[in-house]
Amino acid sequence: MRDDDLAQWLSDRAALLCEAETGQDASFTAALFEGVLDTAFGGETQLLDSVLGGAADHAVAVGRDLSGLLAVPDRLRRHIFTRIEAEVDPEPALRLILAADLILHHATTRLIADYLNALTKTQEGIAAHLAARQTEAERKLMERTVELARANRELMRLEKAKADFISIAAHELKTPLTSVQGYARMLKEGAYAADQQATLLAGLQQGADRLLQIVEDMLIISAIETDTLNLCPERLSLARLIELVVKQRVHSAAGRRHEIRLEGLAELPEIKADQIRLHQALSNLLGNAIKFTPDGGQITISGQLLEPEDGSAPQIKLTIRDSGIGIAPEDREQIFEKFYRTGDVNRHSTSKSKFKGAGPGLGLPIARGLIEAHGGRLWAESPGHDETNLPGSAFHLVLPVDPALVTEADPPPTADLLIDQDNQI
Ligand code: ADP
Repeated sequence: MRDDDLAQWLSDRAALLCEAETGQDASFTAALFEGVLDTAFGGETQLLDSVLGGAADHAVAVGRDLSGLLAVPDRLRRHIFTRIEAEVDPEPALRLILAADLILHHATTRLIADYLNALTKTQEGIAAHLAARQTEAERKLMERTVELARANRELMRLEKAKADFISIAAHELKTPLTSVQGYARMLKEGAYAADQQATLLAGLQQGADRLLQIVEDMLIISAIETDTLNLCPERLSLARLIELVVKQRVHSAAGRRHEIRLEGLAELPEIKADQIRLHQALSNLLGNAIKFTPDGGQITISGQLLEPEDGSAPQIKLTIRDSGIGIAPEDREQIFEKFYRTGDVNRHSTSKSKFKGAGPGLGLPIARGLIEAHGGRLWAESPGHDETNLPGSAFHLVLPVDPALVTEADPPPTADLLIDQDNQI
């Protein structure tokens, strides 16, 4: 496409020809003109092609239509032809026009091809983008469906737990309420001697205490779940706290002929904890060990100081091990769910110490909630549930220890635990 005469004529009029275009297409016209000139000079179309490619990409990117884009080389062509006709003699003018037309025809064809290419690429990009979005949307939909199904199952489980709870709570509350009502009626009749009245009053108090206990358990569970539990941490000796817990349960353990052993507690450092809350957690665990071990069993409470080699904070590990009926693997975690009790809900016997005497299923969730509120952990281990071979269970709890209390050479004496004649803290 080389044409020296055209190249010369174009370069002589470069400024004039480019000035003709103003506005948003002025720069495209100037670049296009350079491409045409370069082609006329050297016969190669690289510069012209790259100008056209760039213009086509840009037009597609900004959403310009093809006819608007083609108008630019068209205007340049008309402008060049007009000037050639006006300035050059007819015979050489015809040759110049033909040479210029060849280059501009190439430009127009190339521009159309580049524009369509760019358009296809963009559409493919959009299609790929849309496909990716659709896949992502489908994945999210699937996740939501799974989540929904899980939430639904959880809801059904909670519904069942609620229904179970109502039945258990009604039973738990009804038994002491009935005895309170019975004793109160007998006392009202007034036909009893003083010693008989004392027995009736004791029964009345026992029933009321049990009622209060159940209601308190429900309140604690609610405080744990709503994160509104207020702890009052103070320095205390676990050995002394456990002694107290055992002392309060010694009567029921003796009634069941259990032997309770304490191991490694005296060596433990003091910890900072809420005495009342920790007492309750330990008492629930010991109470369960007594209940779920047949008469004449063995219960061991052992302690150990864990000082990790990686330099992390020391911990105290307590284990309450019994020689009882054990826990089936599938129940080992479930028993920490509130209102969950192994076996049939309707088969339980309400008692704090009777063999397999079950409560409302709040003892372990309360114990775990209280231990976790202290930054600790509580879990159960057992080879399985077997009421003949008695594999036993172990409840382990780990509590954090302030390192300063471990290294302290001579810890100050703990405040004496206050115990009244009823062995209450
Ligand atoms: P409950 O009020 O029924 O005692 P818990 O939350 O204390 O409720 O215990 C839940 C269930 O876990 C009990 O009903 C019992 O089946 C099982 N369990 C708890 N402790 C033991 C244990 N030491 N040995 C065997 N089973 C246990």
